[in-house]
Amino acid sequence: MITVMKFGGTSVGSPESLQRAADIIIKGEGNKVVVVSAMSGITNFLIKEAEGLPETKNSLLEEFEKKHIDVANQLLSGDRMAEFMKDFNARAASFRELLDDENASKDPYFKDNITSQGERFSSLILSHLLRASGANSIALTSEDCGIYAEGRPLSGSADLNKTESMMAIKVRPYVNDGIIPVITGFYGIKSDGAPLTFGRGGSDYSAAVVANAMNADLLEIWTDVDGFMSADPRIIPDAIKIDEMNFGEAAELAYFGAKVLHPRTIEPVRMKHIPLKVRNSFKPEEPGTIIHHLRKPKDDLLRSVALKTDLSIIAISSAEIAFHPEMVARIIEKISENEVTIYLISTSLSTVAFLVHNNDIKSILSKLNTLEPGDIERIEVKNDMALVCAVGDNLLSKCGVSGDIFTAVKEARANVEMISEGASDVSLNFVVPMSKVTEVVRILHSKYVGGGSDERL
Ligand code: ADP
Ligand code: ASP
Ligand code: MG
Repeated sequence: MITVMKFGGTSVGSPESLQRAADIIIKGEGNKVVVVSAMSGITNFLIKEAEGLPETKNSLLEEFEKKHIDVANQLLSGDRMAEFMKDFNARAASFRELLDDENASKDPYFKDNITSQGERFSSLILSHLLRASGANSIALTSEDCGIYAEGRPLSGSADLNKTESMMAIKVRPYVNDGIIPVITGFYGIKSDGAPLTFGRGGSDYSAAVVANAMNADLLEIWTDVDGFMSADPRIIPDAIKIDEMNFGEAAELAYFGAKVLHPRTIEPVRMKHIPLKVRNSFKPEEPGTIIHHLRKPKDDLLRSVALKTDLSIIAISSAEIAFHPEMVARIIEKISENEVTIYLISTSLSTVAFLVHNNDIKSILSKLNTLEPGDIERIEVKNDMALVCAVGDNLLSKCGVSGDIFTAVKEARANVEMISEGASDVSLNFVVPMSKVTEVVRILHSKYVGGGSDERL
């Protein structure tokens, strides 16, 4: 049995957390493969410092090294610490080389390289700690493993086939020998060998890619909450833990804003039927949430609500556009030239509206300007919108669900700006102004998710 165990930033963010993670790994059954994030705060620190380069080069390195050595010093001593420092110095030398290379910053993937550094050092500390705790372990980078990726800077996708073949050669032998690999999350490598990150929070996706490549029996995502919850507990303090979910539900929620899983985590494990557990590294005795293929539908509850902020609606009007699908195709082609994510689309006789990120509006408008004059009559943009994603079993087959949900929205005095129902059989998505979204989710949660009033969908 192979279990892939991923530890997030807060789960490796302090000497105590690292010790807890090491204990969890050692107690885990069967063969284990570990994937780690950077220590909490480190990726943010690297992103911020990268803005000031090259001036901040020395202070960046000094602070970065100090943060890691201080933590390691509290966990390792004597020969163990000396051994760690040898590996540490080798990785620190490569980091300095990158910062010293004046041409490196001209590379469009430079920020991928800089921000991937945090994982290289957290994995080293955890691997040495496992060794100090009596386990056999090796720290491996994504380069060492052959985790291949492709795509634009800061938003890579893994090449699953190539990664599987490479890991069979480079990682499987360690696992067969009972050695626990501790692998860097967050990034893969392009075909030229340079790092490409998977987007913020990407270590969950890395772990799913590793589980896929190793044909694991289980993926465990160890984080700082009790499991997948009925809403973000930071927004809804009385959110409840969900015991069991299916892949479809978790994928919709993660894609539409539930930060507990990176939006792309589900697919690599779903396609190989690998169950995924979300567990709390601060409470390892808790069972967490299991996400898998089979789950008996429970039909009385709305299971979970997610929200995504900082979005904009761009509505493009043209006479009888509904009778000109080629025109809609041209507009979508223009928008997709920038590879932006379109979260929702809705159409009427003369308008087609898209929901996209606030930051993408400028580039979309400049692309649309290159369409034939006369193609478009009017473009309207509404900024600062938020998308609410409500997920429940067989949501769409339940009579009156939309009515109940929109009654809750009305109570929050929010205007519904866009709706998508029917695109997925487990979710109903709609857009409200960002200023109202917390209230909408709060009311929806208190009325229709466990623990609220008697009103049940
Ligand atoms: P990690 O560093 O372990 O990857 P993250 O901060 O990325 O942790 O994700 C965990 C956080 O996700 C939680 O602390 C919680 O605030 C947030 N979150 C958002 N939606 C949900 C949800 N539906 N269930 C659980 N946590 C959620
Ligand atoms: N360290 C990366 C980030 O902060 C990846 C992760 O935590 O999953 O985005
Ligand atoms: Mg995360």
